[in-house]
Amino acid sequence: MGEVRERRQLGVALAGLGAVILVVVWLTTPWRVLPPGAPYVAPDPARDFTPAEIARSVAFDAATGTPAYLSLGLTILFAGILVATPFGARLLGRLRGPWWVRAILGVLVLTVLVEAVRWPLGIWFEVQLRAFGLSTQNWASWSLDRVKSIGVRVVLLSIMVVAVIALARRFRRWWIPAAVGAFALTLAASFVYPVVFEPLFNDFRPMPAGQLRTDLLAMAQRDGVPVEDVLIADASRRTNALNAYVSGFGATRRIVVYDTLLKAPEDEIELVVAHELGHAKYGDVLNGTLIGGLGAAFGAGLLFLAFWLVRRRAGVEAISDPRAVGVVMGLMSIATVLSGPAQNVVSRHVEARADVHALDLTRDPKTFIAMQKRLATTNISDLAPDVMEYVLYASHPTAPERIAMARSWARLNRLPEP
Ligand SMILES: [Zn+2]
Repeated sequence: MGEVRERRQLGVALAGLGAVILVVVWLTTPWRVLPPGAPYVAPDPARDFTPAEIARSVAFDAATGTPAYLSLGLTILFAGILVATPFGARLLGRLRGPWWVRAILGVLVLTVLVEAVRWPLGIWFEVQLRAFGLSTQNWASWSLDRVKSIGVRVVLLSIMVVAVIALARRFRRWWIPAAVGAFALTLAASFVYPVVFEPLFNDFRPMPAGQLRTDLLAMAQRDGVPVEDVLIADASRRTNALNAYVSGFGATRRIVVYDTLLKAPEDEIELVVAHELGHAKYGDVLNGTLIGGLGAAFGAGLLFLAFWLVRRRAGVEAISDPRAVGVVMGLMSIATVLSGPAQNVVSRHVEARADVHALDLTRDPKTFIAMQKRLATTNISDLAPDVMEYVLYASHPTAPERIAMARSWARLNRLPEP
Protein backbone atom coordinates (compact mmCIF):
# COMPACT_ATOMS: atom_id res chain seq x y z
CA MET A 1 0.00 0.00 0.00
CA GLY A 2 2.78 2.38 1.01
CA GLU A 3 4.55 1.85 -2.29
CA VAL A 4 1.46 2.69 -4.33
CA ARG A 5 0.95 5.92 -2.37
CA GLU A 6 4.59 6.80 -2.80
CA ARG A 7 4.41 6.37 -6.56
CA ARG A 8 1.24 8.44 -6.68
CA GLN A 9 2.99 11.22 -4.77
CA LEU A 10 5.91 11.02 -7.16
CA GLY A 11 3.55 11.07 -10.14
CA VAL A 12 1.95 14.27 -8.85
CA ALA A 13 5.35 15.84 -8.12
CA LEU A 14 6.59 14.94 -11.61
CA ALA A 15 3.47 16.28 -13.31
CA GLY A 16 3.93 19.52 -11.36
CA LEU A 17 7.62 19.82 -12.18
CA GLY A 18 6.97 18.90 -15.83
CA ALA A 19 4.37 21.66 -16.05
CA VAL A 20 6.79 24.16 -14.46
CA ILE A 21 9.47 23.21 -17.01
CA LEU A 22 7.05 23.59 -19.93
CA VAL A 23 5.91 27.01 -18.71
CA VAL A 24 9.48 28.21 -18.12
CA VAL A 25 10.59 26.98 -21.57
CA TRP A 26 7.50 28.49 -23.16
CA LEU A 27 8.08 31.87 -21.53
CA THR A 28 11.86 32.07 -22.00
CA THR A 29 12.14 30.80 -25.58
CA PRO A 30 12.20 33.64 -28.12
CA TRP A 31 9.59 32.08 -30.43
CA ARG A 32 9.56 35.17 -32.62
CA VAL A 33 12.83 37.03 -33.08
CA LEU A 34 11.77 39.66 -35.62
CA PRO A 35 8.79 41.98 -35.06
CA PRO A 36 5.48 40.80 -36.58
CA GLY A 37 5.78 43.29 -39.47
CA ALA A 38 9.02 41.75 -40.78
CA PRO A 39 8.62 40.69 -44.42
CA TYR A 40 9.07 36.97 -45.00
CA VAL A 41 12.02 35.88 -47.12
CA ALA A 42 12.10 32.22 -48.14
CA PRO A 43 15.36 30.33 -47.51
CA ASP A 44 16.93 29.40 -50.85
CA PRO A 45 20.32 27.66 -50.99
CA ALA A 46 20.60 28.24 -54.75
CA ARG A 47 20.54 32.01 -54.28
CA ASP A 48 23.81 32.16 -52.32
CA PHE A 49 25.61 28.89 -52.95
CA THR A 50 27.04 27.64 -56.22
CA PRO A 51 25.93 24.28 -57.63
CA ALA A 52 29.40 22.95 -56.75
CA GLU A 53 29.06 24.09 -53.11
CA ILE A 54 25.60 22.55 -52.87
CA ALA A 55 26.85 19.30 -54.43
CA ARG A 56 29.75 19.17 -51.97
CA SER A 57 27.37 19.64 -49.03
CA VAL A 58 25.12 16.84 -50.33
CA ALA A 59 28.13 14.54 -50.84
CA PHE A 60 29.47 15.24 -47.34
CA ASP A 61 26.05 14.64 -45.84
CA ALA A 62 25.79 11.31 -47.67
CA ALA A 63 29.30 10.27 -46.62
CA THR A 64 28.85 11.05 -42.91
CA GLY A 65 25.16 10.21 -42.54
CA THR A 66 25.57 6.43 -42.37
CA PRO A 67 28.16 6.26 -39.58
CA ALA A 68 26.27 8.95 -37.64
CA TYR A 69 22.95 7.09 -37.83
CA LEU A 70 24.61 3.75 -37.08
CA SER A 71 26.23 5.26 -34.01
CA LEU A 72 22.89 6.62 -32.81
CA GLY A 73 21.22 3.28 -33.54
CA LEU A 74 23.91 1.53 -31.53
CA THR A 75 23.33 3.86 -28.57
CA ILE A 76 19.60 3.10 -28.62
CA LEU A 77 20.13 -0.64 -29.11
CA PHE A 78 22.63 -0.88 -26.26
CA ALA A 79 20.37 1.17 -23.97
CA GLY A 80 17.45 -1.11 -24.89
CA ILE A 81 19.48 -4.21 -24.01
CA LEU A 82 20.50 -2.71 -20.65
CA VAL A 83 16.94 -1.70 -19.79
CA ALA A 84 14.91 -4.63 -21.12
CA THR A 85 17.17 -7.64 -20.53
CA PRO A 86 19.16 -8.98 -17.56
CA PHE A 87 22.39 -8.64 -19.61
CA GLY A 88 23.74 -5.74 -17.54
CA ALA A 89 22.84 -7.24 -14.16
CA ARG A 90 24.46 -10.56 -15.10
CA LEU A 91 27.62 -8.96 -16.43
CA LEU A 92 28.01 -6.64 -13.43
CA GLY A 93 27.16 -9.51 -11.05
CA ARG A 94 30.69 -10.79 -11.67
CA LEU A 95 32.30 -7.69 -10.18
CA ARG A 96 33.65 -7.87 -6.61
CA GLY A 97 34.37 -5.27 -3.93
CA PRO A 98 32.48 -2.62 -1.90
CA TRP A 99 29.25 -1.39 -3.57
CA TRP A 100 30.71 1.91 -4.74
CA VAL A 101 33.74 0.19 -6.32
CA ARG A 102 31.39 -2.17 -8.16
CA ALA A 103 29.27 0.82 -9.27
CA ILE A 104 32.27 2.69 -10.70
CA LEU A 105 33.65 -0.47 -12.33
CA GLY A 106 30.18 -1.11 -13.75
CA VAL A 107 30.13 2.31 -15.40
CA LEU A 108 33.64 1.71 -16.74
CA VAL A 109 32.94 -1.80 -18.08
CA LEU A 110 29.69 -0.85 -19.83
CA THR A 111 31.10 2.38 -21.28
CA VAL A 112 34.22 0.65 -22.59
CA LEU A 113 32.07 -2.11 -24.06
CA VAL A 114 29.78 0.19 -26.05
CA GLU A 115 32.64 2.49 -27.04
CA ALA A 116 34.65 -0.47 -28.34
CA VAL A 117 31.74 -1.39 -30.62
CA ARG A 118 31.32 2.25 -31.63
CA TRP A 119 35.06 2.77 -32.31
CA PRO A 120 35.01 1.57 -35.96
CA LEU A 121 32.09 3.91 -36.66
CA GLY A 122 34.16 6.76 -35.25
CA ILE A 123 37.03 5.81 -37.56
CA TRP A 124 34.63 5.69 -40.50
CA PHE A 125 33.34 9.18 -39.66
CA GLU A 126 36.86 10.56 -39.17
CA VAL A 127 37.99 9.09 -42.52
CA GLN A 128 35.19 11.07 -44.18
CA LEU A 129 36.15 14.26 -42.33
CA ARG A 130 39.69 13.84 -43.65
CA ALA A 131 38.54 12.99 -47.17
CA PHE A 132 36.65 16.29 -47.22
CA GLY A 133 39.56 18.19 -45.69
CA LEU A 134 37.80 19.08 -42.45
CA SER A 135 39.93 17.13 -39.98
CA THR A 136 43.55 18.01 -39.26
CA GLN A 137 44.16 15.11 -36.87
CA ASN A 138 46.34 12.05 -37.05
CA TRP A 139 45.20 8.75 -35.55
CA ALA A 140 47.22 9.23 -32.37
CA SER A 141 45.67 12.61 -31.56
CA TRP A 142 42.22 11.42 -32.66
CA SER A 143 42.44 8.38 -30.38
CA LEU A 144 43.72 10.45 -27.47
CA ASP A 145 40.81 12.89 -27.91
CA ARG A 146 38.35 10.04 -27.91
CA VAL A 147 39.85 8.33 -24.88
CA LYS A 148 39.80 11.65 -22.99
CA SER A 149 36.15 12.28 -23.77
CA ILE A 150 35.26 8.71 -22.74
CA GLY A 151 37.20 9.33 -19.52
CA VAL A 152 35.26 12.52 -18.81
CA ARG A 153 32.00 10.65 -19.42
CA VAL A 154 33.02 7.80 -17.08
CA VAL A 155 33.90 10.28 -14.33
CA LEU A 156 30.65 12.25 -14.63
CA LEU A 157 28.50 9.12 -14.93
CA SER A 158 30.27 7.55 -11.94
CA ILE A 159 29.54 10.59 -9.81
CA MET A 160 25.85 10.44 -10.76
CA VAL A 161 25.49 6.70 -10.35
CA VAL A 162 27.31 6.53 -7.01
CA ALA A 163 25.20 9.44 -5.75
CA VAL A 164 21.95 7.76 -6.83
CA ILE A 165 22.90 4.43 -5.24
CA ALA A 166 24.08 6.11 -2.04
CA LEU A 167 20.77 7.99 -1.75
CA ALA A 168 18.75 4.89 -2.58
CA ARG A 169 20.59 2.99 0.18
CA ARG A 170 19.86 5.74 2.68
CA PHE A 171 16.37 7.05 1.82
CA ARG A 172 13.13 5.37 0.78
CA ARG A 173 12.09 8.41 -1.25
CA TRP A 174 15.55 8.87 -2.71
CA TRP A 175 14.14 10.68 -5.72
CA ILE A 176 13.66 13.84 -3.66
CA PRO A 177 17.34 14.36 -2.72
CA ALA A 178 18.34 12.93 -6.12
CA ALA A 179 16.28 15.58 -7.91
CA VAL A 180 17.82 18.35 -5.80
CA GLY A 181 21.28 16.85 -6.37
CA ALA A 182 20.74 16.53 -10.14
CA PHE A 183 19.77 20.21 -10.32
CA ALA A 184 22.84 21.25 -8.29
CA LEU A 185 25.20 19.01 -10.25
CA THR A 186 23.98 20.42 -13.57
CA LEU A 187 24.62 23.98 -12.36
CA ALA A 188 28.03 23.09 -10.96
CA ALA A 189 29.07 21.21 -14.12
CA SER A 190 28.06 24.06 -16.41
CA PHE A 191 29.83 26.59 -14.18
CA VAL A 192 33.15 24.75 -14.00
CA TYR A 193 32.97 23.40 -17.58
CA PRO A 194 35.15 26.14 -19.15
CA VAL A 195 37.87 25.89 -16.51
CA VAL A 196 37.85 22.15 -15.79
CA PHE A 197 36.77 20.30 -18.93
CA GLU A 198 37.54 22.55 -21.91
CA PRO A 199 41.28 22.79 -21.09
CA LEU A 200 41.49 18.98 -21.37
CA PHE A 201 40.84 19.31 -25.09
CA ASN A 202 42.18 22.72 -26.10
CA ASP A 203 44.61 25.42 -25.12
CA PHE A 204 43.21 28.90 -24.71
CA ARG A 205 45.07 32.16 -24.95
CA PRO A 206 43.82 35.73 -24.83
CA MET A 207 43.49 37.36 -28.23
CA PRO A 208 46.78 39.22 -28.85
CA ALA A 209 46.66 43.02 -28.57
CA GLY A 210 45.95 44.68 -31.88
CA GLN A 211 43.29 46.37 -33.97
CA LEU A 212 40.96 43.34 -33.98
CA ARG A 213 41.00 42.92 -30.20
CA THR A 214 40.53 46.67 -29.65
CA ASP A 215 37.58 46.70 -32.07
CA LEU A 216 35.95 43.64 -30.51
CA LEU A 217 36.22 44.97 -26.96
CA ALA A 218 34.92 48.36 -28.11
CA MET A 219 31.95 46.63 -29.70
CA ALA A 220 31.29 44.67 -26.47
CA GLN A 221 31.38 47.94 -24.53
CA ARG A 222 29.00 49.59 -27.00
CA ASP A 223 26.74 46.58 -26.48
CA GLY A 224 26.88 46.96 -22.70
CA VAL A 225 28.30 43.47 -22.20
CA PRO A 226 31.28 43.40 -19.82
CA VAL A 227 33.95 41.37 -21.63
CA GLU A 228 37.52 41.40 -20.36
CA ASP A 229 38.95 39.22 -23.04
CA VAL A 230 38.20 37.19 -26.10
CA LEU A 231 39.91 33.81 -25.91
CA ILE A 232 41.42 31.98 -28.86
CA ALA A 233 41.17 28.16 -28.83
CA ASP A 234 43.76 26.12 -30.73
CA ALA A 235 41.01 24.33 -32.64
CA SER A 236 43.24 24.01 -35.72
CA ARG A 237 44.95 21.02 -34.10
CA ARG A 238 41.72 19.14 -34.70
CA THR A 239 39.75 20.79 -37.45
CA ASN A 240 39.61 23.34 -40.24
CA ALA A 241 36.02 24.20 -39.24
CA LEU A 242 35.16 27.72 -38.07
CA ASN A 243 33.35 28.35 -34.82
CA ALA A 244 32.96 30.54 -31.76
CA TYR A 245 30.96 30.08 -28.60
CA VAL A 246 30.15 31.36 -25.12
CA SER A 247 30.48 29.01 -22.16
CA GLY A 248 30.20 29.24 -18.40
CA PHE A 249 28.34 31.95 -16.50
CA GLY A 250 29.18 34.46 -13.82
CA ALA A 251 32.88 34.31 -12.98
CA THR A 252 33.61 31.57 -15.57
CA ARG A 253 31.85 33.16 -18.54
CA ARG A 254 34.03 33.44 -21.62
CA ILE A 255 33.76 34.19 -25.30
CA VAL A 256 35.91 31.77 -27.30
CA VAL A 257 36.86 32.06 -30.96
CA TYR A 258 38.47 29.20 -32.89
CA ASP A 259 41.94 30.12 -34.17
CA THR A 260 40.76 28.87 -37.59
CA LEU A 261 38.39 31.83 -37.72
CA LEU A 262 41.23 34.37 -37.45
CA LYS A 263 41.99 33.93 -41.16
CA ALA A 264 38.58 35.38 -42.03
CA PRO A 265 38.23 39.11 -42.79
CA GLU A 266 38.02 41.21 -39.63
CA ASP A 267 34.51 42.49 -40.26
CA GLU A 268 33.26 38.90 -40.48
CA ILE A 269 34.98 37.98 -37.21
CA GLU A 270 33.24 40.98 -35.67
CA LEU A 271 29.90 39.63 -36.86
CA VAL A 272 30.63 36.26 -35.26
CA VAL A 273 31.56 37.90 -31.97
CA ALA A 274 28.47 40.13 -32.18
CA HIS A 275 26.38 36.93 -32.30
CA GLU A 276 28.22 35.58 -29.24
CA LEU A 277 27.65 38.89 -27.43
CA GLY A 278 23.94 38.26 -28.02
CA HIS A 279 24.23 34.98 -26.11
CA ALA A 280 26.10 36.76 -23.32
CA LYS A 281 23.63 39.64 -23.17
CA TYR A 282 20.57 37.39 -22.95
CA GLY A 283 22.27 35.06 -20.45
CA ASP A 284 21.63 32.10 -22.73
CA VAL A 285 24.15 29.81 -21.02
CA LEU A 286 22.70 30.43 -17.55
CA ASN A 287 19.10 30.12 -18.82
CA GLY A 288 19.93 26.91 -20.62
CA THR A 289 21.69 25.57 -17.53
CA LEU A 290 18.75 26.37 -15.24
CA ILE A 291 16.31 24.67 -17.60
CA GLY A 292 18.75 21.77 -17.98
CA GLY A 293 18.92 21.54 -14.17
CA LEU A 294 15.11 21.37 -13.91
CA GLY A 295 15.18 18.73 -16.64
CA ALA A 296 17.76 16.74 -14.69
CA ALA A 297 15.63 16.95 -11.52
CA PHE A 298 12.65 15.74 -13.55
CA GLY A 299 14.85 12.96 -14.91
CA ALA A 300 15.76 11.82 -11.39
CA GLY A 301 12.08 11.36 -10.54
CA LEU A 302 11.44 9.68 -13.87
CA LEU A 303 14.33 7.32 -13.16
CA PHE A 304 12.59 6.19 -9.99
CA LEU A 305 9.36 5.38 -11.87
CA ALA A 306 11.03 3.91 -14.95
CA PHE A 307 13.27 1.69 -12.86
CA TRP A 308 10.26 0.34 -11.03
CA LEU A 309 8.66 -0.53 -14.39
CA VAL A 310 11.65 -2.36 -15.88
CA ARG A 311 13.27 -3.92 -12.81
CA ARG A 312 11.80 -7.41 -13.36
CA ARG A 313 12.94 -7.58 -16.96
CA ALA A 314 16.36 -6.19 -16.07
CA GLY A 315 16.76 -8.82 -13.35
CA VAL A 316 17.60 -6.45 -10.51
CA GLU A 317 15.15 -5.56 -7.75
CA ALA A 318 16.48 -2.33 -6.26
CA ILE A 319 18.44 0.63 -7.54
CA SER A 320 20.57 0.46 -4.38
CA ASP A 321 22.10 -2.72 -5.86
CA PRO A 322 25.25 -1.81 -7.86
CA ARG A 323 24.16 -4.36 -10.50
CA ALA A 324 21.45 -1.79 -11.37
CA VAL A 325 24.09 0.52 -12.87
CA GLY A 326 23.36 -0.81 -16.37
CA VAL A 327 19.63 -0.03 -16.10
CA VAL A 328 20.39 3.48 -14.82
CA MET A 329 22.83 4.11 -17.68
CA GLY A 330 20.39 2.71 -20.24
CA LEU A 331 17.53 4.89 -18.97
CA MET A 332 19.78 7.98 -18.89
CA SER A 333 20.92 7.46 -22.43
CA ILE A 334 17.34 6.94 -23.70
CA ALA A 335 16.33 10.16 -21.92
CA THR A 336 19.26 11.99 -23.54
CA VAL A 337 18.32 10.80 -27.03
CA LEU A 338 14.64 11.64 -26.53
CA SER A 339 15.23 15.11 -25.10
CA GLY A 340 17.65 16.11 -27.92
CA PRO A 341 15.02 17.18 -30.47
CA ALA A 342 13.22 19.37 -27.88
CA GLN A 343 16.54 21.00 -26.95
CA ASN A 344 17.19 21.65 -30.64
CA VAL A 345 13.84 23.39 -31.10
CA VAL A 346 14.63 25.78 -28.26
CA SER A 347 18.26 26.19 -29.34
CA ARG A 348 17.32 27.17 -32.92
CA HIS A 349 15.20 30.03 -31.60
CA VAL A 350 17.88 31.16 -29.16
CA GLU A 351 20.43 31.12 -32.01
CA ALA A 352 18.11 33.14 -34.22
CA ARG A 353 17.80 35.72 -31.45
CA ALA A 354 21.61 35.96 -31.24
CA ASP A 355 21.67 36.49 -35.02
CA VAL A 356 19.19 39.35 -34.73
CA HIS A 357 21.30 40.78 -31.93
CA ALA A 358 24.37 40.67 -34.20
CA LEU A 359 22.43 42.48 -36.94
CA ASP A 360 21.05 45.11 -34.55
CA LEU A 361 24.52 45.71 -33.15
CA THR A 362 26.43 45.92 -36.44
CA ARG A 363 23.63 46.94 -38.83
CA ASP A 364 25.63 45.12 -41.46
CA PRO A 365 23.51 42.37 -43.09
CA LYS A 366 25.90 42.22 -46.06
CA THR A 367 28.82 41.07 -43.90
CA PHE A 368 26.48 38.85 -41.88
CA ILE A 369 25.56 36.98 -45.07
CA ALA A 370 29.19 36.78 -46.19
CA MET A 371 30.07 35.32 -42.78
CA GLN A 372 27.25 32.77 -42.98
CA LYS A 373 28.41 31.70 -46.43
CA ARG A 374 31.99 31.32 -45.23
CA LEU A 375 30.89 29.28 -42.19
CA ALA A 376 28.63 27.02 -44.25
CA THR A 377 31.11 26.35 -47.05
CA THR A 378 34.13 25.86 -44.77
CA ASN A 379 32.25 23.63 -42.30
CA ILE A 380 30.42 21.89 -45.20
CA SER A 381 27.13 22.49 -43.39
CA ASP A 382 23.99 20.73 -44.47
CA LEU A 383 22.24 23.42 -46.56
CA ALA A 384 18.98 21.50 -46.88
CA PRO A 385 18.69 18.84 -44.14
CA ASP A 386 15.80 16.38 -44.38
CA VAL A 387 13.22 16.35 -41.59
CA MET A 388 15.02 13.62 -39.63
CA GLU A 389 18.37 15.43 -39.73
CA TYR A 390 16.74 18.74 -38.83
CA VAL A 391 14.94 17.23 -35.83
CA LEU A 392 17.93 15.22 -34.57
CA TYR A 393 20.92 17.45 -35.27
CA ALA A 394 19.97 21.04 -36.10
CA SER A 395 20.88 23.08 -33.02
CA HIS A 396 21.07 26.14 -35.30
CA PRO A 397 18.85 27.30 -38.14
CA THR A 398 20.40 26.26 -41.48
CA ALA A 399 22.67 28.74 -43.27
CA PRO A 400 19.99 29.51 -45.91
CA GLU A 401 17.50 30.15 -43.08
CA ARG A 402 19.92 32.47 -41.30
CA ILE A 403 20.68 34.32 -44.53
CA ALA A 404 16.95 34.67 -45.33
CA MET A 405 16.40 36.07 -41.84
CA ALA A 406 19.16 38.65 -42.41
CA ARG A 407 17.42 39.74 -45.64
CA SER A 408 14.12 40.02 -43.80
CA TRP A 409 15.90 42.13 -41.16
CA ALA A 410 17.41 44.37 -43.88
CA ARG A 411 14.02 44.99 -45.51
CA LEU A 412 12.45 45.68 -42.14
CA ASN A 413 15.18 48.24 -41.38
CA ARG A 414 14.99 49.75 -44.89
CA LEU A 415 18.57 48.89 -45.68
CA PRO A 416 19.57 47.66 -49.13
CA GLU A 417 18.88 43.91 -49.30
CA PRO A 418 22.18 42.10 -49.87
ZN1 LIG B 1 25.17 30.88 -31.17
